[in-house]
Amino acid sequence: MLKVENISVHYGMIQAVKEVSFEVNEGEIVSLIGANGAGKTTILRTISGLVRPSSGTITFQGSQIEKETSPNIVQSGLVQVPEGRHVFTGMTVMENLELGAFLYKDKKESEAILKRVFERFPILAERKNQDAATLSGGEQQMLAMGRALMSRPKLLLLDEPSMGLAPIFIKEIFSIIEEIKAQGTTVLLIEQNAKMALSIADRGYVLETGKVVLKGSGKELLDSPDIQKAYLGG
Ligand code: ATP
Repeated sequence: MLKVENISVHYGMIQAVKEVSFEVNEGEIVSLIGANGAGKTTILRTISGLVRPSSGTITFQGSQIEKETSPNIVQSGLVQVPEGRHVFTGMTVMENLELGAFLYKDKKESEAILKRVFERFPILAERKNQDAATLSGGEQQMLAMGRALMSRPKLLLLDEPSMGLAPIFIKEIFSIIEEIKAQGTTVLLIEQNAKMALSIADRGYVLETGKVVLKGSGKELLDSPDIQKAYLGG
């Protein structure tokens, strides 16, 4: 579904991503893990069209997208939930969700999808008339995910959904990610929380200083002594 081939990204003189290749097949959860600064966010932003690669190709559902604009990429079904959530404060929960529905011309269609988002995140239904600023961190993460789901993505890109959340919310967010997959959306997840990210992943890739250094099934990586030592404190 998504094929990233030999992507390099530079910020001025700094090379943040070095000839990275990986793929995501339809129906999978794929996790990219790695320490702070390994290049994870840069890779997601490159896939979303927010950063241009200096070389390499990105193919989504058979079309090359590394030169496409972000709105076209979103429209093709590839939607990112950015790091730090970015909900719009000063707007209600409902208004935030409506922003995710901008692709629909048909009101019935957007109402149907809103109903499904509220079923998945009942707390958002309860709080729909509240300012997004009044939500807790975990609820804001749910709102950001709900807003992305409003555009009915084929592939959802999640940037550190567990960041800054209490353990109970982290568990909930990860179980929601599994539900999203069960309902047919493919997921590319980047995380510093390697244990959680690998435990729900079909496959994973480990990044170090801009390079893929290890890949395997979620279970293989979780069981790998190198990963245990470097990321899981074991
Ligand atoms: P984090 O978890 O902190 O977001 P990351 O693995 O996502 O880390 P990136 O944010 O992609 O890593 O950063 C990769 C490298 O690129 C780092 O060395 C970082 O300092 C550098 N970098 C990121 N954004 C920029 C930018 N806008 N300008 C210059 N350098 C940048």
